[in-house]
Amino acid sequence: MIIAGLTGGIGSGKTTVAKWFAENGIPVYNADNEAKSLMNNDKGLKLKLTSLFGKEAYQDGIYNRAYVSSLVFKNQELLKKLNAIVHPAVFKHFNDWLKIQKADFIVKEAAILFESGSWKDCDFIISVVADEQTRIRRVTERDGLTAEQVADRIKNQWTDEMRIEKSDYIIDNNLDLDHLKTGFERVYKELLIKSAKG
Ligand code: ATP
Repeated sequence: MIIAGLTGGIGSGKTTVAKWFAENGIPVYNADNEAKSLMNNDKGLKLKLTSLFGKEAYQDGIYNRAYVSSLVFKNQELLKKLNAIVHPAVFKHFNDWLKIQKADFIVKEAAILFESGSWKDCDFIISVVADEQTRIRRVTERDGLTAEQVADRIKNQWTDEMRIEKSDYIIDNNLDLDHLKTGFERVYKELLIKSAKG
C-alpha cells in the first residue's frame, strides 16, 4: 500500500484536494481533524494538556483552541511541548487506522506533515502551494481571523520553498479552482499508475 502525504501551508487548498481524493474513493486520514478529536476525547491527552496549560485549556470539557493557540503561536518552546504531547498520540491513531485500510493507496493529509516528522513515513509527498498573500486572504475570508493572526500561524510553519524541496508532487493553487482540479487530476493519475505497479 502506498502512503501519499498531502500537505501545504494554512489556506493553501490541501483540504480541497483531499476532498477530491475522497470523492474518488481514496481513503483520506485528516491528521489535523483527528488531532482535534483526540484532544477532546482522549483522557490521557487531556490530562497532559491540562497540566501544561492549566484548567483554561478546556472549557466545559471542550479543548479551548483559541486560548492554547494564543499562547503557543507566540512561544516556540511551548509549541514544541504541545507537539511532543499531541504528535505521538496522532501517530499511534494513524497506524491503527492504517492497519484496517484495504486500498492500494491512501492519503494522509496534514498541515504540518514536515514539521511533525511524519513525512518520513510517506512513500510520496504532495504539496499544495500558493502565495502567502493569497493564502492570508482565503483564510481571513473563511475563518474570520485577522491577517496578523494568519501571518503568525504561517511563521510557525515551513515555507513553500522548504516544502517543494522535499516533495514528489507540487500542485499550484494560485489561480481558480479549475486550475487546482487540473493539478489534482495529474497527480491522482500518476499515483494510480504507481500504486498499480507496486
Ligand atoms: P487550512 O490549513 O487552513 O485548513 P487548507 O490548506 O486545507 O487550509 P482549504 O480549506 O482547502 O485550505 O482552502 C482554504 C480556503 O480557500 C477555503 O475556503 C477554500 O474553499 C478556498 N480556496 C481554496 N482554493 C481556492 C481557489 N483556487 N480559489 C478560490 N478559493 C479557494
